Amino acid sequence: MAKQEFQTEVSQLLQLIIHSLYSHPEIFLRELISNSSDALDKLRHLTLVDEAFKSLPFDPRIDLTLDEAAQTLTIADTGIGMNEEDLISHLGTIARSGTKNFLSQLSGDQKKDSNLIGQFGVGFYSAFMVADKIEVVSRKAGEEQAYRWTSDGKTGFDIEPASRETAGTTITLHFNEEGNQYANSWRLQEVVKKYSNHIAFPIFLTYDKSEWNAEEKKSDKIRTTEQVNAASALWRRSKSELTDDDYKELYKSISGDSSDPLFWFHTRAEGNLDYTTLFYIPTKAPLDLYQAEYKGGVKLYVKRVFILDDAKELLPQYLRFVRGIIDSEDLPLNVSREILQQNRVLTAIKTASVKKILSELKSIAEKQPEKYLEFITQYNRPIKEGLYGDYANRETLLDLVRFKSTKVEGMTSLADVKSRMSEDQKAIYYITGGAESLLRTSPLLEIYKKKDIEVLILDDEIDEIVFSGVDKYGETDLKAVNKSSTSDDLKDESEPDNTEAIQPLLDKLKSILGDRVADVRASVRLADSPSCIVSDEDEPSLQMQQMLRAMGQKDMPMPKPTLEINPDHEIVKKLLANPHGTLAEDAAWLLFDQALLMEGVSLKDPATFVQRLNRVLTASI
Ligand code: ADP
Ligand code: MG
Repeated sequence: MAKQEFQTEVSQLLQLIIHSLYSHPEIFLRELISNSSDALDKLRHLTLVDEAFKSLPFDPRIDLTLDEAAQTLTIADTGIGMNEEDLISHLGTIARSGTKNFLSQLSGDQKKDSNLIGQFGVGFYSAFMVADKIEVVSRKAGEEQAYRWTSDGKTGFDIEPASRETAGTTITLHFNEEGNQYANSWRLQEVVKKYSNHIAFPIFLTYDKSEWNAEEKKSDKIRTTEQVNAASALWRRSKSELTDDDYKELYKSISGDSSDPLFWFHTRAEGNLDYTTLFYIPTKAPLDLYQAEYKGGVKLYVKRVFILDDAKELLPQYLRFVRGIIDSEDLPLNVSREILQQNRVLTAIKTASVKKILSELKSIAEKQPEKYLEFITQYNRPIKEGLYGDYANRETLLDLVRFKSTKVEGMTSLADVKSRMSEDQKAIYYITGGAESLLRTSPLLEIYKKKDIEVLILDDEIDEIVFSGVDKYGETDLKAVNKSSTSDDLKDESEPDNTEAIQPLLDKLKSILGDRVADVRASVRLADSPSCIVSDEDEPSLQMQQMLRAMGQKDMPMPKPTLEINPDHEIVKKLLANPHGTLAEDAAWLLFDQALLMEGVSLKDPATFVQRLNRVLTASI
């Protein structure tokens, strides 16, 4: 029996694996089981397509056999197997171009290397983390002779003829100190369930089971063989094979939610990248939806092997309520969290997944509006968050968001608002800043009511931040009614312009209010109210400023508001006629303060406000 040396790269790789992965050696089992699963896939494929193999028996299974006394574990499969040449080239050299490439990038810098290793498969060699000797007996399908490959993972390997009854591979690990913990049936079952539960083939474990012997009052060790995995990668089956109940059951098992999901989207992508995704929308929003420490709900699999869960990298943050599975054919098993963020394959899957989820939601919105309403009741807000961050999908997100409005009960879509617009309406208007009741009674809406123009009521705290960044829906402008320029749209060319007549009053008010206001203007947006407050284009509204200050931004500069007054209002007309009267100054402040109150802003000096009010009342009653 000839001793053969490892290719130099193999020794290098072995060292690296042992040093960079020692913190979670349990992955050795995931790697070996996935190799067996690949070998079974290959044989199945041959029996389907190759005449010479069609008559071969195909009884796919993976057997783990634990010998606690000997501290060994064997992993046997009935797959394609390896002949002498295969054993040498697959287990003794690094033929895989990816790994070669990887080794050429090695810097010697441990930390960087252990990050790098996640980009490539570690595979078979990871078993040397837990074993000081590995024996592989394999017989290739269609051949008679079997071979035994043995190595201590240090210097090289031996190869010799051996016998094996059927085609397949049996790998025996002689556990080292690190591996001792896996000479334990509980631990093995746990690791198999964690990583390999959805491998399509059955995985059996043979071990000494303790059973209580009541007669002799002691526990007996009984050699037992049990299937460990569920072997149910449902998501890899075609949609037509699956019932609603199948989907619901899988949802419950992966989400921990006991109620049925609202809907699910199952996609199989082939071609450039091969992957399967199955996404679920929970009927009720997850409890941690608005917690900074939320858990991501998507699990990543590579070829049905579980890789990791609650990875926030798998979907954008605003879709954190989505539950489900991404199963890729193209990622290495060893892909790490650090690598996920910059991995091109995953980025492509993520981009396509977001598009898919959003377009499915859009089609539900169109075809099943009632069902969609259930969705939006739970998830309108995260969708708005998407508007803030996901520029690429903004158009679709705008179609998904729903709004309260002055024209309809319940919620409405921008598409519907647009369809209700009259021909000469210049934009879609909305009002933000405060509770719904406050917004609905705002003097800013008066002109819109008068002109019968719909205004959206954006009463969610995040609305102002989100929508200040969204200025168009398709070709149509989106405008906040409390911005100073918005009223330009509303000017009625036919009405006489009385700005000039009112100018002396405006000047007078400005001198009274001084530096509390940026400007005082004649308004075109008021009907019943004498005055209102508007903000400059780029400034946060008064409520927003109030909120930011409450959140601790004390030294935020306070932009001054602009006061608009209604030239047609009785009070304003009287003031104009009598600008120097004793009550003129009180009236000026009352016009300003009441506009602030209507905006939901609390007055700095309520006592003075009340004194003024009382003086005016005394004079007028
Ligand atoms: P990878 O699985 O990424 O190719 P591994 O290091 O896990 O890398 O395995 C190396 C090669 O050894 C495999 O590609 C396969 O050809 C061969 N091999 C490993 N285990 C088995 C097995 N149980 N049956 C057949 N071939 C195997
Ligand atoms: Mg492998």
